[in-house]
Amino acid sequence: MGIPHILAIPYPVQGHVIPLMELSLQLVKHGFKVTFVNTEFIHKRVLSALSKEDNVGELINLVSIPDGMEPWEDRSDLGKLSEDIFRVMPGELEKLVKDIKRTDDNEITCIIADENMGWALAVAERLKIKSVAFWPASAALLALIFSIPNLIQDGVLDSDGTILRSETITLTSKMPAMNPNQFSWASLGNSNTERIIFNLLGETNRTVKLADRIICNTSYELEPAALDFFPEILPIGPLLADHQLGKSSGYFWPADTSCLTWLDQQPDQSVIYVAFGSFTIFDQKQFGELALGLEVTKRPFLWVVRPDTMDEKSEVFLKVVIARIGKRGRMVGWTPQQAVLNHPSVGCFLSHCGWNSTMEGVSNGVPFLCWPYFADQFLNQTYICDVWKVGLGLDKDETGIITRGEIMKKVEKLLNDKVFKERALIHQEMVISGTQYNGCSNKNMINFIEWMEM
Ligand code: UDP
Repeated sequence: MGIPHILAIPYPVQGHVIPLMELSLQLVKHGFKVTFVNTEFIHKRVLSALSKEDNVGELINLVSIPDGMEPWEDRSDLGKLSEDIFRVMPGELEKLVKDIKRTDDNEITCIIADENMGWALAVAERLKIKSVAFWPASAALLALIFSIPNLIQDGVLDSDGTILRSETITLTSKMPAMNPNQFSWASLGNSNTERIIFNLLGETNRTVKLADRIICNTSYELEPAALDFFPEILPIGPLLADHQLGKSSGYFWPADTSCLTWLDQQPDQSVIYVAFGSFTIFDQKQFGELALGLEVTKRPFLWVVRPDTMDEKSEVFLKVVIARIGKRGRMVGWTPQQAVLNHPSVGCFLSHCGWNSTMEGVSNGVPFLCWPYFADQFLNQTYICDVWKVGLGLDKDETGIITRGEIMKKVEKLLNDKVFKERALIHQEMVISGTQYNGCSNKNMINFIEWMEM
């Protein structure tokens, strides 16, 4: 028998590709062969963002299949993207698996599919291959999705996902209350997309039943209530980069590593790290207010401003902002975020609260300032601020803006009240111990690996 050969297929957005790539690298370390299947569009982006020293292509077999969209179509339209994927990719994946069987000494022995690509679990079933559903977000969100049929029955939602009752709900007495208007599918800002994504969730609730295992990038220590509620969800996280193994984790933009040298020159725990993930876009007024807010804190800051958020007008504006912030602040297009959060100079993380950013901040013991935008980010903020108590939320004023005064007030409170850092360190210790000998994530990972080797 050849070595076990895993096929990993992420949903084609940055926050889903990174953790599955990290899992894949860990599997390579355990002697598995891994074929990582991106869409053609994302494959090109990942390859062009690789740095010269990057060896990920030697460790993992990086391949691609079409996503069903035309090259010029807008892939940030997640509704259209998901529909096209569903139309085209199942056939393409099946063909790929059969081609590998014909041409490779090691046929595919297990498919690990992002749960948003639940159709791939059906492909695995058809081809009689073991399958694993991979959930890159919180267990709480997955518990919410699994509970959709009950929420419909209880009259909280209708069958299209429309919110019928807006008072907060709790899934179990030990989980925090959730505001239905902030459910992940109900806060995407476009009703057509929201409907398509809600239908996709219904589909994944069906296909996930085909999976032999459901693994989740979380830690039991962080989410015991959600994981006790659905014990079939196996926490194996946090999945973090192994910098000794592979340099990249599937970035869509080249990482600017010079910011690490800049961080070396800053005092310990002094820097405000500001990053809003791969999707969030600011309007110019809010952008300017954030710049002024950072200026009035009089603290060093490292601010990620992605190249795709800049049109010509905002580039001119950005130059004005950069001229004002001088040497105290540094703006970059994309950072190696995990290395940044691990740097001793970083004092706090001003974040949009995407799940990966949340796990990375917690794993590095960094307190948060929370600025959620959409999807599951409000739920993640609830965990950060109300459950783990390792951060503070930023409040909007009556015009819907987070003002410079609010930014300054919360930065001061977070950095002056040592209790936030203390709790952040306690949570860091908890999640890291979960990944070490006898920890819950560690045991799950070992069982999972042994099962895949069978
Ligand atoms: N990230 C990064 N450099 C940056 C900004 C983000 O490496 O400058 C990574 C970050 O470490 C995380 C991912 O991009 O792993 C973003 O995922 P997250 O779930 O936080 O947010 P999303 O992009 O899905 O909204």
